[in-house]
Amino acid sequence: MIIEIDNIWKKFGRFDALEGLSLTVPEGSAFALIGANGAGKSTTIKILMNLIEASRGVAKVLGVDSRDLSRQQFAQIGYVSENQELPPRLTVGDYLAYLRPLYPSWDHSLEKSLLKQLELPLGRKIGHLSHGMRIKMALACALAYRPKLLVLDEPFSGLDPLVRKEFMESLMHQAGETTILISSHELGELENTATDVAFITKGKVTFQESMDMLKSRVRKVFVTLSRPATPPENPPGEWLDIRASGNVVSFVDTQYTEGGTNAQIMATIAGVHNIAAEPVALVSIFTTIAAATRRGSKQT
Ligand code: ATP
Repeated sequence: MIIEIDNIWKKFGRFDALEGLSLTVPEGSAFALIGANGAGKSTTIKILMNLIEASRGVAKVLGVDSRDLSRQQFAQIGYVSENQELPPRLTVGDYLAYLRPLYPSWDHSLEKSLLKQLELPLGRKIGHLSHGMRIKMALACALAYRPKLLVLDEPFSGLDPLVRKEFMESLMHQAGETTILISSHELGELENTATDVAFITKGKVTFQESMDMLKSRVRKVFVTLSRPATPPENPPGEWLDIRASGNVVSFVDTQYTEGGTNAQIMATIAGVHNIAAEPVALVSIFTTIAAATRRGSKQT
């Protein structure tokens, strides 16, 4: 595991931002951290990058307690955050020249192709770049040394859709050799690129699993009845967002299997005429589970 977090807590004054959060990120994965505003994603990432210390528990990065990461180990980690600080008075070219000798694995030809692909003007002062250009610059600086681990904290905020697409393409060029941990609210961007996903709610990981597993176990189910539909009286806890309209009862099943779900439907709903199930987009998985969690349901 390239990242192993075991039961970390973080207190800010009396407030617990993290409440026993555990997470493991496998090597080679593109791992998405998702969760509502204030759930604790940035706090977790800052602990991993040793920018802040956990109040309790251990977060290991590259096999080492993040508080003990050496300069050599940091040279294998790329970190890009929304509020990336870059020296405003240096030009793009000057800053790259400054960084190159700091990273033994700096790849010159990759640097050139990133500059071209991301259309970064070498001679312009960093302080004169737009927000999106600065984020692209930070990404180019982090990718050019082919880090073993790339940590991205909400890299898309404020980026236009074309830049987002270019950004993801640059990332995907390096997928596989680099493990990526990315926190973002842009679930559409993550849907086709992330291999694994963790949901963070109120300072804890509600669940983590592969994107394929998540997408196969969460399905929208439509049950057509031979009579006007009413919501079932005692539905299983894993059915969320239950609706009845016309002759159809629909719900999101968070533990879908064809046989299991069909049997539950037959045991719960009378007069079933037809059952259909379809995949659910990541954004709907998130909103459905987040709404259910807010209401206190434990079935995620
Ligand atoms: P978002 O999606 O909005 O960026 P997030 O999941 O990244 O949210 P965090 O930034 O980790 O959330 O914040 C988690 C909680 O900790 C929030 O309630 C936030 O107000 C609180 N918090 C974060 N940093 C501090 C701090 N320095 N002092 C006090 N509270 C803090």
